[in-house]
Amino acid sequence: MKYPSEINNSDIERAMNSPAGSYSPEKLAALISPTAEGYLEEMAQMARQLTMQRFGKTVRLYAPLYLSNYCVNNCVYCGFNKENKYERRRLTIEQAVKEADIIASEGFRDILLVSSEDREFISVDYLCELAGRLRGKFSSISIEVYQMTTEEYAKLFAAGIEGVTLYQETYDRDVYRQYHPAGPKADYDYRLSAPDSIAQAGMREIGIGALLGLSDWRLETLALGEHAHYLMKRYWKSRVSFSFPRLRPAKNVDRAQFRFLSDKNLVQMIIALRLCFADAGMVLSTRERAELRDHLIEVGITKVSAGSKTSPGGYSQPRNAAEQFEIDDARSPAEVAEMIRAHGFEPVWKDWDIAFVKR
Ligand code: SF4
Repeated sequence: MKYPSEINNSDIERAMNSPAGSYSPEKLAALISPTAEGYLEEMAQMARQLTMQRFGKTVRLYAPLYLSNYCVNNCVYCGFNKENKYERRRLTIEQAVKEADIIASEGFRDILLVSSEDREFISVDYLCELAGRLRGKFSSISIEVYQMTTEEYAKLFAAGIEGVTLYQETYDRDVYRQYHPAGPKADYDYRLSAPDSIAQAGMREIGIGALLGLSDWRLETLALGEHAHYLMKRYWKSRVSFSFPRLRPAKNVDRAQFRFLSDKNLVQMIIALRLCFADAGMVLSTRERAELRDHLIEVGITKVSAGSKTSPGGYSQPRNAAEQFEIDDARSPAEVAEMIRAHGFEPVWKDWDIAFVKR
């Protein structure tokens, strides 16, 4: 396979003429190459058409609910890093249900439960109990928490949780070691095995991603493509989604160490993955600014968060606890839904019901 810098116009045209939505490492490498930046407009049109063919003119909406910012890890890029000194907060089940009620009152039926690695308090039993309390209010409950075993994921699935997002953060082993110096998350290989465990537990949705800004984005995209291809072939009953978390400013985190990804290359990454994976979900959070999010729903994004608070208790008491990172799109859920409509898409608050599956 050629290095990205060696890819020429005919490699890109071959990639663009291959069946829409089909994957090969060579095709993905061509589409993310520096030379392909000159084809972005044409690639964007193809990605838009393909996304509409597979997903219709719809964009799903979800909201994250942060449960705890206590953490046993010290990921260098994160505001919840255990070395950071600030008042931390955990939500009891009752407090979490109250926050979820606010989210539900805004119209959301798709909720993502988020927590730092705080097993002691946000245990598997806690999540099962909370899912039980939320099942009547939300049609889709997913989690983005610490890594678990297959048996633990299976317990959560039985309790009504149908999706798990867990990023590898970086596929570069050396960079991984540098940014995850200690704690349970320091084990690269164990982390890499998480999506297998999630799929083996029967979860309907598996979210993967790299934290963009830690390493070379082109290498991360190639690794993501291979990882997704492997998961899709092996676990065809689960849907694989990509997320695109770009590093954001966070409390006590030195920004100078990051390799920031430009807007143009973020767009290129999303388009390239869409042209290789026609059926993959593509998720974008409020980390990104409003204007860019508005543009990205045109080229492949299928699910966005809105009105997000990234601190525990943030919906009922804004700014009462430290945030994991700063958000950039501060529009209300209603404003985001209106923007989606203005772009000719239908905002979807609910596209799935737990009653569809036999338990
Ligand atoms: S990225 Fe997650 S595990 Fe790492 S410090 Fe932040 S909350 Fe903890």
